[in-house]
Amino acid sequence: MINVKPRPLLLAISAPSGTGKTTLCDRLVSEFPSMKYSVSCTTRSPRDGEIDGVDYLFLDEAAFVARIAEGAFLEHASVHGYRYGTLRETVLDAFAAGQDVVMDIDVQGAEQIRTLLHEPANRELQRAFIDVFIAPPSIESLNARLKGRGKDSDEVIARRVQQAEVELQHWSSYRYFIINDRLDASYDALRSIIIAERHRIFSSSEA
Ligand code: 5GP
Repeated sequence: MINVKPRPLLLAISAPSGTGKTTLCDRLVSEFPSMKYSVSCTTRSPRDGEIDGVDYLFLDEAAFVARIAEGAFLEHASVHGYRYGTLRETVLDAFAAGQDVVMDIDVQGAEQIRTLLHEPANRELQRAFIDVFIAPPSIESLNARLKGRGKDSDEVIARRVQQAEVELQHWSSYRYFIINDRLDASYDALRSIIIAERHRIFSSSEA
């Protein structure tokens, strides 16, 4: 019998807001028990129903900046005027517990992690990292979807659509790309990526 220890997976998913990313990630986490959401830090205030330590670790600006100075973040970025970041220890503790990690991060955060992967000290991260960009079928469909949710004002929707146009310019930096036209088909694509990555063999220069 070949003795192969499965490597942990670090799945970074980026998508403009309103693309269906949360639904897809929730399905993934419920189908694959080893996959855990990474709880990020943010300086934005909790929304109704959000719980500190569950949805995010809610930090004030000073606490967030102190964590940056300590080098505690694997990546951090400003999104919609607030800071967001993934703590190194969140990912490393999950790996140590034999879990895979799902990160919902913006395009800047994904780019920062890709840069880190070039460092020889980050070989485990390099092998674990899988980045997926989820896109709406079109800007018009995104606009219609955000309006249909009835959650945001016209002004907020206009800002999100504008932001989506900027984020969409980064799709080709990702290894995988899914256009979320039909949810079931998109989910099939996402779970197929995970299954294929679990079966990936690394060449001796990558191992
Ligand atoms: P929201 O405030 O709606 O929960 O998230 C807003 C945006 O922040 C989303 O695009 C999400 O992907 C991004 N985001 C959430 N957590 C992180 C994080 O830890 N790092 C980065 N870079 N972006 C994040």
